[in-house]
Amino acid sequence: MQVLSVASEAYPLIKTGGLADVAGALPLALAAEGVQVRTLIPGYPSVLPALDPGFEAHALGEMFGGPAQLLCGTAQGLDVLVLDAPHLFARAGNPYHAAGGQEWPDNAFRFAALGRAAADIGLGALPSYQPDIVHAHDWQAGLAPAYLAYASGTRPGTVITVHNLAFPGKAPLDLLAALGLPPEALSIDGAEFYGSLSLLKAGLATADRITTVSPTYAAEIVTPDFGMGFDGLLRARRPVLSGILNGIDTEAWNPASDALLATPYDRDTLALRAANKADLQTRFGLDPDPDAMLFGVISRLSWQKGIDLLLAALPGVLADEAQLVVLGAGEAGLEVACREAAGRNPGKMGVLIGYDEALAHGIQGGCDALLVPSRFEPCGLTQLCALRYGAVPVVARIGGLADTVIDANAMALQAGVGTGVVYTPGETDAITTNRLRAAMQRAMLLHADRAIWRSMQRNGMAADMSWRVPARHYANLYRSLLASR
Ligand code: ADP
Repeated sequence: MQVLSVASEAYPLIKTGGLADVAGALPLALAAEGVQVRTLIPGYPSVLPALDPGFEAHALGEMFGGPAQLLCGTAQGLDVLVLDAPHLFARAGNPYHAAGGQEWPDNAFRFAALGRAAADIGLGALPSYQPDIVHAHDWQAGLAPAYLAYASGTRPGTVITVHNLAFPGKAPLDLLAALGLPPEALSIDGAEFYGSLSLLKAGLATADRITTVSPTYAAEIVTPDFGMGFDGLLRARRPVLSGILNGIDTEAWNPASDALLATPYDRDTLALRAANKADLQTRFGLDPDPDAMLFGVISRLSWQKGIDLLLAALPGVLADEAQLVVLGAGEAGLEVACREAAGRNPGKMGVLIGYDEALAHGIQGGCDALLVPSRFEPCGLTQLCALRYGAVPVVARIGGLADTVIDANAMALQAGVGTGVVYTPGETDAITTNRLRAAMQRAMLLHADRAIWRSMQRNGMAADMSWRVPARHYANLYRSLLASR
């Protein structure tokens, strides 16, 4: 079976978030299921030089204001089709916005081109390659299923995966024709989204199957509370909507062989983590206290991630024997708020604003508990890495967090299955903040009982976080889709 995966980022070629991890890892895992995946990705400046020699070029003609071609080959172990369109992608910096943070004004066209190229490939543009399925990821690829659905003749099956519903990929209504969408797309059952166009909605409305990255998020997004305006459409499409949990790259994230850790360790040598904790305390300028409960955060600093809730919960927690390190970047207000909180808590809280893969490993390998206080979380990857690294996750009971962390309540402790601390968000931020604070305090109580804490760490480290099981679910989905056509 041949699947064309369409994504705006794929690790290690280009990454701004979890989408890249998924798009980069899934092809290799699916190969073990007998599914051949090729990944269509934009030709950003960092991607083109990564192409191995010997790639082939296929002209696609004019695409939204300039020439485009597909470069077909391999790059960093991935089988890729790179959409080379310099007028759209030859720009320094982030894939989605300029250095100042403002979105590229032509984003609708840039990612319409990605969808158009995918649809063209699906309709036979490449002489030697015909995918059975086109699998689009998030709004950036949302037009791929739409162009295919509106095309005449035979077409491949289509799947769209929602990694985050918070990004609708909006464009002005009057771009409909310029984007190459037919008039019928301008309906409530098409790409129209509250007076705009939404590239994501176009995909959700037209794909044969919709998946999202956890079963709980799949159930949440059909409700008004989590549906972000798409819940009506998603309720209507519930029969084709399912949730498949993400895995992680268990080679890159392996505490036993992680060269980015001061001291590697495994399930049986957890005492060695103490050296990583000491290293982390030094790097963040914290008091070198081996017994302090060290919380860690690795996150985009955004409203979604509940960083403001965490900062509000801190007084009363840091006063006890607790410390906090934060690695993240994002909204300016939250960056400032984190820095200020660290300034108020010298020796107890350290903040590094930025994106630092090596330090992310250091935090997973050194902190006692990893906090994920998200308001919504489609899957979440940091808690999966944390489980693998014996950093006990403290998370909100929502989305993929609810599906991956087992609260160490009395019953779970009795049964010996608890892996973390899970709290239920409240109706208001104030209630949620109190519950988060209580969860952190409960984690500290559990941490004080070293035998219980060790068992929680070991339970988490024993879980299978790899892509093996998720890949099987995707392969089954592809097979059932093809069988139904
Ligand atoms: P998102 O909503 O940002 O995709 P996920 O938890 O699904 O959240 O994935 C985030 C990924 O990015 C994880 O692999 C995490 O380790 C990584 N990450 C996030 N912020 C940083 C940072 N500041 N430095 C290094 N890695 C980060």
